Amino acid sequence: MDVLDVEKSKCIGCGACVSIDAEHFDFDSDGLSEVISNANLKSENLQDAIESCPTGAIRLAKTDEAYESSEKEDSSFQNNDTVPAES
Ligand code: SF4
Repeated sequence: MDVLDVEKSKCIGCGACVSIDAEHFDFDSDGLSEVISNANLKSENLQDAIESCPTGAIRLAKTDEAYESSEKEDSSFQNNDTVPAES
């Protein structure tokens, strides 16, 4: 199963995806894009939004890939926060 994902670390909040495809994207409280729907993933507007993103932040990934990606982000966040991963 595919899942739509925005890599927040790449998003610059330009709003292109939100204006092209409001069915799938909206701004979060930080002004960055967030996915609001995982339905209708073959829509033309979604393809346009993905191609229009200037930073390549939008991905259509397999569920497993998205899960692995978020796991990596979580561990790097902990490292940046100087919290030991294990004590
Ligand atoms: S088009 Fe890309 S950079 Fe612009 S708001 Fe959407 S995800 Fe962020």
